[in-house]
Amino acid sequence: MTILHINNLHSSIKNDKILNGVNLEIKKGSIHAIMGPNGSGKSTLANILSGNNLYHIDNGTITFKNHNLTHLSPEKISLLGLFLAFQHPISIPGVNNAYFLKEALNAKRKFLGQKNIDAIDFMNLIQTKMKYLNMNEKFLNYNLNDGFSGGEKKLNEVLQILILKPDLIILDEIDSGLDIDSLAMVSKAINSIKTMHNSILIITHYQRLLNYIIPDFIHILYKGKIVKSGNKELSHTLEKKGYSWLDI
Ligand code: ADP
Ligand code: MG
Repeated sequence: MTILHINNLHSSIKNDKILNGVNLEIKKGSIHAIMGPNGSGKSTLANILSGNNLYHIDNGTITFKNHNLTHLSPEKISLLGLFLAFQHPISIPGVNNAYFLKEALNAKRKFLGQKNIDAIDFMNLIQTKMKYLNMNEKFLNYNLNDGFSGGEKKLNEVLQILILKPDLIILDEIDSGLDIDSLAMVSKAINSIKTMHNSILIITHYQRLLNYIIPDFIHILYKGKIVKSGNKELSHTLEKKGYSWLDI
């Protein structure tokens, strides 16, 4: 069963064309990776999928769980089960991290017709997950991503994933800013929630992450187009040859 279907997606920002006909189909239960040089449009694609209307969709369709995603708000897309872990998570001073996580979980529960999580159950849940991620509990009292290091922001994104359990997890350069131990732990956490029923889209520059979260398919996004798809071997080719051979 297909969870995400992108067909001939063209998009632009401030009249600059960024995506030039992207096609991608992700099935339930599969792991895909998108690799590509800086500026090829990877984050643009991820942001469009999350409903960010900064990007103009010039052409094409996106279907997520049989909904026309281009007509949905970021809130609705999130409630339907798509989660984007940002390449650069933003800080929101004034919004307490624990409160944010609880509200996000309760919004999802409400959408699913469930009642709010009990305060004690929430604390138990969050403490278990933070322990698993080796995160200091002090981050619960901080404002969202405020005063977090780059790596801590990434861990906080993964904490949200563990709490919300999305059906499609998009990781935009989750490996950037993470030291090697944190990278292994983040990968372990992502692998731990992977089931037959959810899918992952990994966006990365580096083959290294793909040793931990092993993709079924790799796609190369180059100049706004997927120019090549293959299996895990493709990432080794990229590691050896870089991207310039794709110009030929
Ligand atoms: P990648 O994630 O593959 O490095 P991006 O999607 O971030 O690439 O960027 C693709 C192109 O779109 C780049 O040329 C970048 O400068 C441009 N771009 C992305 N976001 C914006 C923005 N908010 N304003 C202007 N240009 C942007
Ligand atoms: Mg990017």
